[in-house]
Parts: sequence; structure tokens; C-alpha cells
Amino acid sequence: MAEKTIYYIEGDGIGPEVWKAGRPVLDAAVEKAYGTTNALNWVELLAGERGYAETGEHLPQATMDALAGAELAMKGPLQTPVGKGFRSLNVTLRQVFDLYACIRPIKYFKGIESPVKRPDLVDMTVFRENTEDVYAGIEYQSGSPEARKLIEFLTDQLGAKVDITAGVGIKPMTPAGSKRLVKRAIDFAIEHGKPSVTLVHKGNIMKHTEGGFRAWGYELAEQEYAGKVVREGEDGSGVIIKDRIADAMFQNVLMYPEQYSVIATTNLNGDYISDALAAQVGGLGLAPGVNMGDTLAFFEPTHGTAPTIAGKDMANPGSLILSGAMLLEHIGWTEAAQLIHAAVEKALTGKRVTVDLASQIAGSTRVGCQEFGDILLA
Ligand code: NAD
Repeated sequence: MAEKTIYYIEGDGIGPEVWKAGRPVLDAAVEKAYGTTNALNWVELLAGERGYAETGEHLPQATMDALAGAELAMKGPLQTPVGKGFRSLNVTLRQVFDLYACIRPIKYFKGIESPVKRPDLVDMTVFRENTEDVYAGIEYQSGSPEARKLIEFLTDQLGAKVDITAGVGIKPMTPAGSKRLVKRAIDFAIEHGKPSVTLVHKGNIMKHTEGGFRAWGYELAEQEYAGKVVREGEDGSGVIIKDRIADAMFQNVLMYPEQYSVIATTNLNGDYISDALAAQVGGLGLAPGVNMGDTLAFFEPTHGTAPTIAGKDMANPGSLILSGAMLLEHIGWTEAAQLIHAAVEKALTGKRVTVDLASQIAGSTRVGCQEFGDILLA
């Protein structure tokens, strides 16, 4: 079995402790599945607070150079540096490496007490567009010269009614940006035998951006997947393509989770819906994800640095470990990924869990981050 190089960033806050507890679980799963040691070649890259302390930069050039040539990477959470003019390091990485698809599986693990009536029916994968929408960073403060200039243009040239004191933001969304995301979602659905892809948008209000997403999604499906997909309500076979308005969708996924399988959506909707769904099946401590471009796949837990519990051996390493399982699946090392899923399920039913899960599992005992990692390892 060929060795795989994985660049990794430890991250800030709880990053070091979840890596310490989590990485041995990934190595052990590979070893147990294939009988080879050190098949994962971990290469550390500096970033965040450690990057700053050691190089004076939060995203050192050496890190960016290594990632530019990489296919596989994993990271812990990075704190957004405090101070004027700093953008989120995560958003910067997504934009620099054009990691346009944020993919988050939401799957129920036995043992969790979920507020959803039938959590066992929850098995969805959210594809969130990662580079456009209101996250493009085109936003101006109320009263700033830029905001005033833009408002003057909008009112004078375009006849829009905007109060001169408004803070203003732009929501750019393109056919190409939307289509490449929807393409990923449809390809995934076909490859994994999923029944449907739902385009989630707020096109009833924002016709040319969110509504554009819906229209471009259907256009792509019709142009590139003839015979492989079928629009909801039409005759034919294949993956069903349907669309839902975001507010109705939030209600529907909680009440009728069995109707949804693959979700393709815009940046802001995707941000909300993936966290909300994760909360139904265990919360941020069990929520993995990946940001993918055309070459680099950058796996990361969904949670942030959890500063209030950092360094206290309280964090759940599950989200990092499950992100690692996603990486293993991505490279086709499915047996190792399955061992990890089985270990998580067994640990939850064994009821010795980290504090975030203890409140969701009746009769459970709290264990620390490292001990939870050791339980998974065992
Ligand atoms: P957060 O995810 O760090 O914390 C939200 C809540 O969830 C807190 O109560 C926290 O204690 C808890 N939590 C998070 N991860 C947990 C885990 N593994 N185990 C147990 N409990 C966990 O979100 P926040 O407080 O909004 O953000 C803190 C910092 O993290 C900010 O600087 C933010 O920019 C950054 N952040 C980074 C990423 C990323 O790197 N992808 C994502 C989100 C936030």
C-alpha cells in the first residue's frame, strides 16, 4: 500500500489536545485495516498562533507553499486573530486555494439523545458553496466613505432606495461558482447511490442571487446529467433533483429527515443548516467536514477553538477523528474509515464520553479528551 502524505496544521485553542488524542486513532485504524504501520505520512505545517509565534505570520509562506502543491491536508481550528484588518484565517485558506465546496456529512450515531423524532433517519451530506455569497468580504461600514460612495451610486445611477447611513454588503453569486458546487453534489449522489439532491435557496426573495443558484443548478443537471437525474415530479429514473426554499427546508429537515439525502446550497444557508443539522445528531464535537477544491482536499472539524475549555482536557476529539475518517474514505481506504465509525458508535453506547456528549446521553460518565481518544483507540 502506497504511503499517503498528509499535511496537517495543529490549530489553536483545543487544536493541540484533539490532535494528541485523535491522530493515534487514525494511524491505528489504518494499521488494523491493512496491517501496515506508518502508512499515513504526517507532515506538520505551522499556522495560527504558533505560526505567528515562530515566524511572525499567522499563515507563514512555507505553509502556503506546501499547501499549494498538496492533495491532502487536515487542520485543527484556527482562531481569527484579534485586531483591526484581520480576516478569518479559515476564510483566507478557502479563498487562496479556491476550496469551493464545503462538504459536511450529518449522520446519526446510536446512543445520542436527539431532539429529532426519528434521528435514525438522519443521513445527509451538505454541500455548501464556499467562496461566493456574502462571504466574499465586500462589505462597508455605516458612514464610511466607501459605503457612502456605493450608496450614492446605487441611488443616483440605479434608482435604488438606500439610506445614506446604511452599512452595505454585496452578495456576488455566479453561474460558474454555483454550477461547480452543484456538480460536486450530483457526482457524489450518483457515486454513492443517494436518492436525491436538494437545491436549497432563498430565491423567492433574492431572485438574481439565490434564485440564480436554483436556476443554474437545474440547468447544470439538465445539460450534463441527462438520463442520470430526474427533476422531482417528472417521469424518468435517476437521482431526483428538487429544490426547497431555505426557511421551509429548515423545518422540513427536522420533521421529515428521511426526505433529504444530499443538500446543495449557497454559502450562508449552508453555514446555518450544517451547524443546525449537526446539533440534531450530537453537536459540534461529532461534526466532521472537508473543504475541497479541484486538487486540494482540506479536512477539518466543524468546530472552532473552543477557548473556554482549551487546555482543560475537556474537548471532544470526535470531530477531528471523523474528519480523518472522511479523508480515509476520500482516498479509498474505506475499511479503515469504517473501523473508526464503529469505534465511535461503540464508545457512545459504552457511555464514557466527553462533557459535550455526556449531557446528551443519559446515564453516561464524563471522561477527558485524552481518555475518550484512548477509548476509541481501544
Ligand atoms: P467554537 O466552535 O469554538 O465553540 C462553540 C461552542 O462549542 C463552545 O461552547 C465550545 O466550548 C463548544 N465546542 C466546540 N468544539 C468542541 C469540542 N470539540 N468539544 C467540546 N465542545 C466543543 O465557536 P466560537 O466560540 O464561535 O469560536 C471560537 C474561535 O474559533 C473564534 O476565533 C473563531 O473564529 C474560531 N473558529 C474557527 C473555525 C475553524 O477553524 N474552522 C470554525 C469556527 C470558529
